[in-house]
Amino acid sequence: LKLQKDLLYEINREAAKFYYLNLGQNREALEYLGRRNLNKDIIKRFGLGYAPDKWDSLKNYLIKKGYEEEDIEKAGLIGKRKDNTGYYDKFRNRIMFPIIDGKGRVIGFGGRVLDQTMPKYLNSKDTLIFIKGNNLYGLNLIKRNFNLNKIILVEGYMDVISLYRNGIDYAVASLGTAFTSNQAKLLKRLNKEIYICYDSDNAGINATIKALNILDKEGLNPKVILLPKGHDPDDFINKMGLKEFEKLIDNAFNPIDYKILILRKKYNVNDIDGKIKFVKEVSVILRNINSPVEREIYIDKIAKEMEISEDAIKKEVLGNNYKNE
Ligand code: ATP
Ligand code: MN
Ligand code: MN
Ligand code: MN
Repeated sequence: LKLQKDLLYEINREAAKFYYLNLGQNREALEYLGRRNLNKDIIKRFGLGYAPDKWDSLKNYLIKKGYEEEDIEKAGLIGKRKDNTGYYDKFRNRIMFPIIDGKGRVIGFGGRVLDQTMPKYLNSKDTLIFIKGNNLYGLNLIKRNFNLNKIILVEGYMDVISLYRNGIDYAVASLGTAFTSNQAKLLKRLNKEIYICYDSDNAGINATIKALNILDKEGLNPKVILLPKGHDPDDFINKMGLKEFEKLIDNAFNPIDYKILILRKKYNVNDIDGKIKFVKEVSVILRNINSPVEREIYIDKIAKEMEISEDAIKKEVLGNNYKNE
C-alpha cells in the first residue's frame, strides 16, 4: 500500500511533467518566457511548464494515468466545483513553476499569468506535503552548492531564475508568504552568509525589516543588498548584468546601517520636525543594539551627522537607564 504522502509527491511530479510537455507545444507561453530571457536550458533546469487554458486537461491526464480525483485534489491541483458536480483544474493558462524540496521532490507549484490579469501568481494551497512557510523556492539547487558560502533571499520565482541565468546560482525565494521563522531555521542549517535582496519598493522594504527581525531572533546576522528604487533582482540583473549585481553584493548593508538608511530616506532632516522624528526613531533602533561598543559607535555617528551632542542622543537612546551605564 502506497503511503498517502508518497502518492501526493508522485501526482505532483506527473503534473510537472504534464505542464513541461505542454509548454513545448504552446507558442504563446514560449514567447512569453523568451521575452523574459529564459531559454530551453533554463526551462529544463527549473522544470518550467505551462497549464493549458482548459478546465480539465490536467485532471483528464492524471485520471488516465490511474490517479483518483480525491487524491489529485489532496495534491492541490484540482478543486471541487461549488455545485458538487465534479472537479476542475486549479491552474489554467499559466506559466508553471514547480516547487521542489531539498530532497528533489515536487511539493507544489506557483503559476503566473501571461498578461496583466489578477492574481498575477497563484500558488498551490497548503497540503500534506506542502507547507509554504516551511519551504524556500530554489532550495533544491542550493543543496548542490557545497563550496559556496553565500545565500541570497529574494521575493519571487523569477528573481531566483534570472539570478541563476546570470551566474548567481545561490538564491532562494520565500514563496510569496511573509518570511517565517521556519524558513529562517532552514537557512540557518545551511550555515552560509545570508543576504536579503527583496524588491526595492515599499512592500519590499517593510518585508526586509520584518525578515531582519526574524533572522535576528534565530541568532543570524544577514546583510541587505540595496537595489535602485523600483527594481527587483530580476529587473536589475537583466538590465545591468552580473558585474553590477556583484558590486551591490560587495556593498551590502549590515542590518543597523540598513534600518538607519531607510529612516534617513523617510524624513527630511533639514527640517527641525523631521530631524526630531528621525533621531527619536533611530534611538529606538540603537536601544536594541546589545553590544555597548557597537551602540556607542552608532551614537557617535548619528550625533556627528545630526549635529546634536552625543550626550543628548545617549539620553534619548538609553532613557531611564542612562544613569546605570
Ligand atoms: P514578475 O517579475 O513575474 O512580475 P515578481 O516575482 O516580480 O513577478 P512580485 O509582485 O514582486 O512579482 O511578487 C513577488 C513574489 O510574491 C512572486 O514571485 C510570488 O511568489 C509572490 N506573489 C505575488 N503575487 C502573488 C499573489 N497574488 N498570490 C500569491 N503569491 C504572490
Ligand atoms: Mn514585489
Ligand atoms: Mn518583484
Ligand atoms: Mn519581477
